[in-house]
Amino acid sequence: MELKDIKIKRNVLLNPGPATTTDSVKLAQVVPDICPREKEFAGLMKGLRSDLCKVAHAPEPEYTSVLFCGSGTINIDICINSLVPEGKKILVVNNGAYNSRAVEVCQMYHIPHIDLKSSVFEQPNLADVEKTLKENPDVAVVYCCHHETGTGVLNPIREIGALAHKYGAIFISDTTSSLGMVPFDMVKDNVDFCMASAQKGLMAMSGLSFVIGRRDIIESSKNYPTRSYYCNLYMQYECFEKTGEMHFTPPVQTIYATIQALKEYFEVGEEAKFARHRRVYKAIRKGVKELGFETVIDPKIESGLVVSVKYPDDPNWDFEKVHDYCYERGFTIYPGKITTTNTFRLCSLGTIDVKDIEDFFVVLRGALIDFCVKRYDSFLPET
Ligand SMILES: *Cc1c(COP(=O)(O)O)cnc(C)c1O
Repeated sequence: MELKDIKIKRNVLLNPGPATTTDSVKLAQVVPDICPREKEFAGLMKGLRSDLCKVAHAPEPEYTSVLFCGSGTINIDICINSLVPEGKKILVVNNGAYNSRAVEVCQMYHIPHIDLKSSVFEQPNLADVEKTLKENPDVAVVYCCHHETGTGVLNPIREIGALAHKYGAIFISDTTSSLGMVPFDMVKDNVDFCMASAQKGLMAMSGLSFVIGRRDIIESSKNYPTRSYYCNLYMQYECFEKTGEMHFTPPVQTIYATIQALKEYFEVGEEAKFARHRRVYKAIRKGVKELGFETVIDPKIESGLVVSVKYPDDPNWDFEKVHDYCYERGFTIYPGKITTTNTFRLCSLGTIDVKDIEDFFVVLRGALIDFCVKRYDSFLPET
């Protein structure tokens, strides 16, 4: 039997990553054992770093990518602990759970910061961002998530980046749940550093994360305060530049999978891929509406990658039970991340298409009927 003939059960993941992958990406991990200190492996990472810049439309050599072994949060940690100069502050434009995570990183490292909080249901107010920058000339870094995965809100990063630059700050955007799924252009979007992990937009495996950013700023950061040993951007960059290797052991199998995923990414082409995510999102919105669920975010400001759905107001609704019912049938749904409203999330990440969403809604409808969620009585078969 050949590797490609292995049958792997297909699960449709509607959670916000890791996402459903192709079998060819899964199987790309099955390779002869190799020590990652071999030149052959360094060569693989060189091509990978370059391809990641292409995904972000970040022209080399002005921009470069630096790889890390860890989940996506490692990037938030690295960017924040490595890129705030001595005596300067970071402004976090915060409208949700993932921006709050950045604030927690600032707190953990005792980095002077401003937490500019605003409603999780809306985009941040640009006038407030500008006012804060005007009043705080010591802000050297502005930070904002591109797609707030907790709600599905897409933030106006181009405008926030322009404001950061107007006031002499650099702009870091967490693009973990948007890169490779919605249009993004490092230069036009005024982003100095972006970040993502292999298991979301690229549809590879978890364990590999990467920061893409301006080489001159990384080089200046050599003289910034060092706040972490393992998670320092300059240290990892310097190691890659000198040896082509990660400072410590890389996630070998995930790197093979990511290389295959990128091959498939460029074969499909970003436009076709973006369009597929969009039609999956539309199918999710349609199904949600047909079942009478309410959503919490205005579609006009949604990324098209996450839909936050309100729990129905019914004592028979039990998210865990519905989750298990769907899971047993090959579909994974995910709890929400909004503290004030009970929601669950349906996401259009991964290698899935409209047919999967239609199949999912047949299953979800079945769950509602089986659990006698009352407002769905009209779906019950006539007796
Ligand atoms: C998924 C995600 C992360 C990283 O989460 P991990 O669980 O560490 O992989 C960071 N930021 C955003 C916006 C995300 O969606």
